[in-house]
Amino acid sequence: MTDVQVFSKNVENDNVVFGLRKIMSLHQKTYPNALRTTENRFRMTQRDVIAPTNLSERLANNKESERLANNKKPCEQQKTEKNMEECFMIHYAEVGLKGKNRAFFEKRLVQNVKQSLRGTGYAAVKRLHDRIQVQLAPHADIAEIKKRLSNVMGIAHFELVCCTEKDMEAIKATALQQTADKTFQTLKIETKRSDKTFPLTSPEISAEVGAYLIRHTGARADMHNPELLCRIEVAQNAAYLYTDKLPGIGGLPVGVSGKVLVMLSGGIDSPVAAWRMIKRGAKAVFIHFYSYPYTDKASLEKVMELSHILAESNYRSAVYLVPFADVQQAIVAGTPAPFRVLLYRRLMTRIAERVAALVNAEAIVTGESLAQVASQTLTNLRAIEAIADIPILRPLIGDDKAEIIAQAEQIGTFGVSTLPHQDCCSLFVPKHPATRASVTDLERAEAGLDIAALVDAAMEGIERRVVSFSYH
Ligand code: ATP
Ligand code: MG
Repeated sequence: MTDVQVFSKNVENDNVVFGLRKIMSLHQKTYPNALRTTENRFRMTQRDVIAPTNLSERLANNKESERLANNKKPCEQQKTEKNMEECFMIHYAEVGLKGKNRAFFEKRLVQNVKQSLRGTGYAAVKRLHDRIQVQLAPHADIAEIKKRLSNVMGIAHFELVCCTEKDMEAIKATALQQTADKTFQTLKIETKRSDKTFPLTSPEISAEVGAYLIRHTGARADMHNPELLCRIEVAQNAAYLYTDKLPGIGGLPVGVSGKVLVMLSGGIDSPVAAWRMIKRGAKAVFIHFYSYPYTDKASLEKVMELSHILAESNYRSAVYLVPFADVQQAIVAGTPAPFRVLLYRRLMTRIAERVAALVNAEAIVTGESLAQVASQTLTNLRAIEAIADIPILRPLIGDDKAEIIAQAEQIGTFGVSTLPHQDCCSLFVPKHPATRASVTDLERAEAGLDIAALVDAAMEGIERRVVSFSYH
């Protein structure tokens, strides 16, 4: 069929549109979207003449198809340099499975996505039926958004999609436009149709768009190993097209699993332990014990820097810095040398429990891994844990050091963790500490200490700092 011809010279625009409506109403049965499309084009371009052409001929012309696609009523989208209506679609795996809590999980994910995308030029983040949509402002930094979304906990995968009207001509034009900057010899179209009222079935849509692309690009169809896979989704509000499915990091949105207090030492393991918990949706608060003036302040700087790195996924984070020198001095003066590390740990745990109560954390997290060092034998872990009333979680308990290092590199903490610092736990400890201390051994060893006074004094000296999430 042919499109209509409109001459608007010396005529009021609204009159033209009115006249256009009349003409187009004649074509409504066979070409239901024509009125809106043509009218929009007129309003948008304010051109005097829209010449009559055959629709398929016009679609064959890349420039024209681009213009046509731009005229489609989008889902309130931006125009990029490529002049496409683009947005990001985020899919969550486990979040979707959380039954009645689903809205809670989704809302948290939306909040987190907004925090992560600050300064990238997104326009809005919205919950749709089973996904989250990131709408883009005109100058949104697409590459940066991709990078940041790939680190948001709770995202299974995401894609940059072109949104268009639920109209076959628009879908075909958008598909062609979307593939314009891609090199491929073979292609496949995969369609999902969640709007079952759409007149064509998924295979029919795939076949029609596929034939259209083949005709205009010269590529061949390949159902098994295509170089270009174009996915089309016909949803309730619009049709979405995309070619690249980008992997998310998985896990759960930070904040849905409550709060934990992470004992952060400045070494390699504890930041990785923190990251694992954050990935499972726990909001981390950090606590660090330092022995200044017995040690320098390097561990404090390292812990602040590590918290900053972790804040990329944990967002605004509180860090509690605890002066530990007096406690250590009391232990060194009053207990047998082989038990000292374990007694340090028991005191740290007691103080950590007090802080956990203060911040409403439901568990303490450490970077301990079974038998990695003398203080981490099963027997010793049990003897440390005996004084704790809240759970002590050890996400790295079954990991080898090499696995922990690999993950530290992946999450970006390894470099800071390996900077030199003096660890307070290695102060005044013998070469061969006890590897099998029983609970009774430790109770006896610390019987002479005024534990309550030591804990109170340490609590009084605590400093709280806040690390805000920011990208450099
Ligand atoms: P890391 O690499 O995390 O320092 P590590 O293998 O060196 O671990 P240890 O020094 O025995 O192990 O510490 C075990 C865990 O105890 C740490 O992972 C951390 O959670 C906690 N911890 C040790 N020292 C401190 C400290 N100064 N402040 C806070 N937590 C600490
Ligand atoms: Mg350490």
